[in-house]
This record gives sequence, C-alpha cells and structure tokens, in this order.
Amino acid sequence: MNAPVVIRGGTVVEASWNGPADVLIRDGKIAALLKPGAAVPDPAIRTVDATDRLVLPGGVDPHCHVGFTSGEFTSLDSYAECTTAAVFGGTTTIVDFAIPRPGRRPLDAAVAQRAKAGEGLCDSALHGCVVEWDDTTADQLKTMADSGIRTIKMFTTYAGESMANAHTILRTMQATRDLGGMVIIHCESDAIIVDAQTRAAEAAGVDAAHMACTRPEIAETAAVAEILAIAESQNAPVYFVHQSTAEAVELVADARKRGLVAFTESVAHHLVLGDGAYTGEGPERFVCCPPLRSAEAVEALGEHLFTGHITTLGSDHCCYDLDQKQVHRHDVRHMPNGLPGVETRLPVIFSRYVHDRGLSASRFVQLSATNPARTNGLYPRKGSLMPGADADVAIWDPQARWTAGVGQLHQATDYTPYEGMALTGRPTTVLVGGHVVVDRGELVDDTPRGRHLEASPLDFREMATGCIPAG
Ligand SMILES: [Zn+2]
Repeated sequence: MNAPVVIRGGTVVEASWNGPADVLIRDGKIAALLKPGAAVPDPAIRTVDATDRLVLPGGVDPHCHVGFTSGEFTSLDSYAECTTAAVFGGTTTIVDFAIPRPGRRPLDAAVAQRAKAGEGLCDSALHGCVVEWDDTTADQLKTMADSGIRTIKMFTTYAGESMANAHTILRTMQATRDLGGMVIIHCESDAIIVDAQTRAAEAAGVDAAHMACTRPEIAETAAVAEILAIAESQNAPVYFVHQSTAEAVELVADARKRGLVAFTESVAHHLVLGDGAYTGEGPERFVCCPPLRSAEAVEALGEHLFTGHITTLGSDHCCYDLDQKQVHRHDVRHMPNGLPGVETRLPVIFSRYVHDRGLSASRFVQLSATNPARTNGLYPRKGSLMPGADADVAIWDPQARWTAGVGQLHQATDYTPYEGMALTGRPTTVLVGGHVVVDRGELVDDTPRGRHLEASPLDFREMATGCIPAG
C-alpha cells in the first residue's frame, strides 16, 4: 500500500465551501482534513507543501474521447497518453466513450474500451452508446449497467455513422431511466445541418473557413427542444453534452423548472474561443461540432457559468493532429471533428473565468469535478476531498502566469487551439490515489494504476438538488 502523505499550508476548495486545512492521506484515500499545522501520528510522513496554493479535488472530465474512430480517422492518443496529459492539467478522472462502429454491438464496444483502463495513469469511467434499437438492446443495456456503465451517449446527427432516430432515443431513455442511468446526448438537427452544408457548398464553400455557417445555432436549438419533449414524455433524465449557446442552455433550465431532471454540459472551447478563429490562419484547427460560435454567443454562454444553469464543464477532447485536420481542409463534411483539450480544460477556464472574471473557486470545482462525478455516479468517491474519497488532488497555483503552447503541453498531438494564449493559474503538483504523479510540473511517477470506475445507480433527487447551486 502507498505511504501516508500530508498536504500542508493550502486552501482546500470544495464545491460547497473553502478554507485553510491540511489534508491527511492514507491508503490512497483522504483520511482527514486537519486544522492547519495539526500534529499527525507518524512523524516520518511525507509532507507536500501547498503554501499559497489551492488544494482541489482532482478534475473529473465528463467528456473525453480516447483513441476514437469516426469515419476514416482515429484520434491519436492511448490511455497512457491521454491520462498523462490529463494529470498534467489537474484532471485525475476521465469519462471516455464506447461508440460502436456501424454494425457493431454497443456492449462489444464497451467491453473493448473498458479493457484499456488499466493503461491509464488515473482512473476512468465509460459512457456506452446506442445507435439503433433492436431486440437485443435492452439486454445489452442491462449488462452494461450491471458493470457500472449507466450513461448512454446518443446523437441526433451524423446520419449513417452514429445518429439515432427518435424511436431509438425514446426507447433508450426508457431503458436507461429504469436502470438508474441516463441518456447523454449530442443535439444538432441533422436535417438543418445537411441543408446548410448543401447550400454552403453551392455558394461560399464548405472549407473550414465556412465552418460556422454549416452548423447554425438553430440546428442545436431545434434538436434540444425535440429531445427535451421526448424526455418529458417519459419522465426520463437527460444530459446535454457540449451545449454551445445560451438559448440551448435556457431551454434545459426551463425544463428543469417544470420538474424534469435535465443537465447542461458546456465544454471549454465554446466558453473561450469564438468563430473569428475560422477567418484566421489554419481554420481547420478549430473544426468541432457544434462549431465555435460568435463572440456575443460565447459571452452569453459564459454568463451561465455564473447563473448556475451550466451543470458540468467538459473538454470534448479529441486528439487529432494537423495532418488529420488538414486532409479534407476544403470540405468540413469529411474532416475529423474535435479539438484536443483534456490538459487545457481546467487552466483555460480558471484563467478566463476565475482569475479574470471572479467566478468563485468553489463553483469552478463544482463545475469541473464535483458535478461531473455526480452525473456519472462517481460521487463522493471522486469530485471531493472529504474523508473517504479517493486521494486524487490537484495542488493549484492561482497566480502562475504562463503561455499556452504545444511545447508546454503533453497531449499526443502537434497543436493546441489555445496556442499563444496568456493564462493565469495552473496545477503544480498532482496526486492520484495518494501517489504524487506530477510534482512541480514534472512527471515523477508514470506507473499505470488506472482502474475502470463502475458508476453507481444515479440518485436523481440528490443530483437535481446537489448539482444546481441556489440563486
Ligand atoms: Zn464528444
């Protein structure tokens, strides 16, 4: 078993409070929070200094694609590589996806992806995925739930690849609801997008510079409205991934007021980057779905970090490199969608929202660790530093100034969409299961100790009250 550790001199930040405390770690778990300077029984205990630092529960990234194949492209990282980048960025749990290739069973995809967890430097959980309902789907979902895979990803777009029709979505919502799980869904109306792409191809073009107009905001609004109606008809909980507009977020907030258990995830790039990126050099570096939105839309979306309407913060990490992004630079319909971001999720949002705009550190932890743990059935084992939790800790320097750049990062790709961005705040030392893995910016332990985390049945009453801050 691993040696005990005490983290001294820092400010512990939980979702619901923060204050000075020392953190005692034993057997890979948080053993106690102590009065600063309190004596500990074992004088030989290892001390980690956190003076002038925030002591955060390690981040939980609810949306992270590892080695993901879509169309002709597979994203480039292994579990070892993705989790190495994650821990450098202060994230100590990732939730990956098992998205079946056309014709493959969801359960088989899940079993294959789950087997990779042991290569990780940190723990991981998994979302399943249903594309087409058939006679075996209910049994497959039951088997997945029994092995702790309770959140099921669905898509309203990408016809012929991963898109599910409304019948399939409704039946999957019924089944996951009854299994203590929920559907998590990518909402963009495929009909509106195909039409917008067709019209763009005939006019301005479908190269990356025209990305924004090929996937208009109304495509997202339309799909969110339809999915909310299906969820309400079944009283089924639903979680919307990467909501990119305030309008979409507000539809979900309104449904919550009517009593539906519904959650909004927003991802870092939609909160920081605008569609001006598509008019600059190398626009294919920013091709993601939904696309980056206007500066005004980014501003309006960011407001909902403060209102509480955004439940979780994800990365939607997809580790493609420039070669892959540029093969079809003249046609976004064939480009690999997605941006690398598992390592930058926390620093970018901390800098732009906590440092620059006064978002509270507790709300930052709630969005980036505690709520993702809750919505994935991992709380309070993850997303908290209360006694009994896994000792996954990010010791954070809130004043560190640095410039994001691919040379500073550890993701298995040759670019970052944040290249050259001046940032304030970053993790310095990161513990995983009580082991110091990153120390003062260096990887000091690359032992793969990753475990597949089994999601507990979701407690929707606890989630509905716990995830949404009052006021
Ligand atoms: Zn995604």
